[in-house]
Amino acid sequence: MDFAFTDAQRELYDSVRTFARQQIHPTVLQREPLQTWNDDIWQKLAGMGLLGAPIPEEYGGTGLSCVETCLVKEAFGAGAEDGGVALAWGAHTILCGVPIWKLGTEDQKRRYLPGMCDGSLIGGFCLSEPDSGSDAAGMKTRAVRKGDRWILNGRKMWITNGPIGGVFVVTAVTDPDARPRAAGISTFLVESGFPGFSVGQHIDKMGMKTSVTSELVFDDCEVPAENLLGMENYGFIITAKLILGWERSCLLAPGLGGMDAAIERCARYQQERHQFGRPIARFQAMRHMLADMKVKVELARNLIYRVAWKLDQDGDPPLVDAAIAKVFLSEASQQVFRDAVQIHGGNGFTTEYHVERGLRDSMLSTIGAGTSEIQRGIIARAILDLPF
Ligand SMILES: Cc1cc2nc3c(=O)[nH]c(=O)nc-3n(C[C@H](O)[C@H](O)[C@H](O)COP(=O)(O)OP(=O)(O)OC[C@H]3O[C@@H](n4cnc5c(N)ncnc54)[C@H](O)[C@@H]3O)c2cc1C
Repeated sequence: MDFAFTDAQRELYDSVRTFARQQIHPTVLQREPLQTWNDDIWQKLAGMGLLGAPIPEEYGGTGLSCVETCLVKEAFGAGAEDGGVALAWGAHTILCGVPIWKLGTEDQKRRYLPGMCDGSLIGGFCLSEPDSGSDAAGMKTRAVRKGDRWILNGRKMWITNGPIGGVFVVTAVTDPDARPRAAGISTFLVESGFPGFSVGQHIDKMGMKTSVTSELVFDDCEVPAENLLGMENYGFIITAKLILGWERSCLLAPGLGGMDAAIERCARYQQERHQFGRPIARFQAMRHMLADMKVKVELARNLIYRVAWKLDQDGDPPLVDAAIAKVFLSEASQQVFRDAVQIHGGNGFTTEYHVERGLRDSMLSTIGAGTSEIQRGIIARAILDLPF
C-alpha cells in the first residue's frame, strides 16, 4: 500500500493551485453575486489543460489518471475557492466528457471531445427532472425512434451548464414496459442546436453561483440515430455505473481543496484576532475546532483517493466505497465551513472572508449526485446483502 504522490504529481498539484490562486480566486467575490457565465475564466481552465484532464491526448485531453484528475481538482479547489466553477468543470468533464470517452463510438469521440478539451464546446449531463431526482429511473422524458432519428420529449431540471452548453448527455425512456425501469432507459448526445431543443427557466441558487443552472426542454427534439450513446435500453445503467465512481471521487475532490483553504484561513485568523488580550488561538475551544476540521479533511481525502485509486486499478466502479466517500466528504465539508464561519465570528458572516460562500456552496454536496439519504441506503443494502 503506497499513499505517496510522486514528485511529478506534487508539482502538478502546486502548479494548478498557484494558477487557480492567481487567475481564478482574485475575481470570485465580484463574479459570484452576478450568477452569470464567465467565459474568460473557462478559457483559462482550457489553457491549463484542465477541461480534458482525464481524456486521452489523442482526443485533445491531458491523459491524467483518475487519481491525478482528483489531484488537479483538489488543487483547483484549494487555490480558487470557487465552488461554482469547479462544479461547471465537473459537469463538463466528468459527467459529459468521461461517458463520451468511455462509451462513445470513435466518431462520437472525434466529434465532441476535442472541442470539449479546448474550451470551444461546453458539456452537461441531464438526468434529473422536475418530478424525478433521487428516483431517477422514474423519469418521464421519452425517446421514440422514427427512421434515422430519435424524437425526444420531456424536461430536464437543475442542469449545470444548461444555459451555455453545446452538447449534453441526456437520459430518456426508450422502453416504458421494461422492468426494472432502468433497463428501458437509453442515453443520447444532444446538441443545443438540434431542432426542438430549448433552454427553460434559469435557476437562481443559494450557492455555486459562479455556475449557471437551468431547465432544458425537449419538444419533439430530433436526435440523429448515430447520437445514441452506448446500448439502446442499457445506456442508463451503464452510464450511471460508470459515472458513479468518477463523480463521487473527481467531482467531489475540489471540496477537499476548499476545506484545506478554509483551515488555512481559520489558522491565520485565530493567530491575528485578539480577544481578552490574547490571540483567539489561545482558547482551547478554538483549537479543538481547528483540529476537528483537519481530522475531517484528512479522512475525506483518504476516502476520495481510495475510490479514484480503485477506478485506476480495474476500472470497475466501487459503488459502496463511492457512497461512503460521498456521504463523508459532503457532510464533513458542511461541518468544516460552519465551524470556519464560527471561528471568524461576525467577520465570518460577511462575504469578504470567503468562508460563508464555502458554507453556501457546500450545501449542494449532500443533495447533488445522489443525496446523503440515498448514499446511506446504498451502504445499508450492501451490509444487509440486499440487491441494489
Ligand atoms: C445546483 C444544482 C445542480 C445540479 N446539477 C444537475 C445536473 O447537472 N444534472 C442533473 O441531472 N441533475 C442535477 N441536479 C439535480 C440533483 O442531482 C438532484 O437535486 C438530486 O439528485 C436530488 O433530487 P431532488 O432534488 O429531486 O430531491 P428528491 O429526490 O425529491 O429528495 C427530497 C428529499 O427526500 C429524500 N429521499 C428521496 N428518496 C428517498 C429514499 N428512498 N430514502 C430516503 N430519503 C429519500 C432525499 O434524500 C431528500 O432529502 C442539480 C441540483 C442542483 C441543486
